Amino acid sequence: MPKVISRSTISASNDQQPSNTSPLKVYYCLCGEFSLVCDRPLESLPQRPLDGSRVLRCLDSSPGSSGGVSKVRKARVFKISASQGRPKLLQRPDGSLEKQYPFHCSRCNLQIGYEHTPPPLKSGGKFTFILPGALSERHGQVPEDALLGIENLDQGEAKETSTSD
Ligand SMILES: [Zn+2]
Repeated sequence: MPKVISRSTISASNDQQPSNTSPLKVYYCLCGEFSLVCDRPLESLPQRPLDGSRVLRCLDSSPGSSGGVSKVRKARVFKISASQGRPKLLQRPDGSLEKQYPFHCSRCNLQIGYEHTPPPLKSGGKFTFILPGALSERHGQVPEDALLGIENLDQGEAKETSTSD
């Protein structure tokens, strides 16, 4: 399970962010590769109950005539940098089939998400799905001990063996 982000910060009462100038959020693959820029934080997006992935809406919803509340849901503004993989067919526990077109980090090939429409991305499908835990908001969090080996380089000051004779 992905870590659950506390909702306490979201419910701040004095949220005076102008709706049309919200800053773009940038997300990185766990390897540090830039993968997604979006007009909303991922954690604020709806989740697909089936697999917990975040749902990026590609198209405005049609003002449905079903029921009283016919609110048009606006498409998200986002751009994905990824390479597409082979489509795969998933079978759900209830026997239904779902064809997914996954996309991967172009550097480390980790799967980032999927769509239900053939490549390229955002080419007609209603939604793009981002797998839970696939992306990070922090770029290149390198563990401190990864740099230990570099200190040794300083010792390499070669003494000039100038035998002046
Ligand atoms: Zn990666």
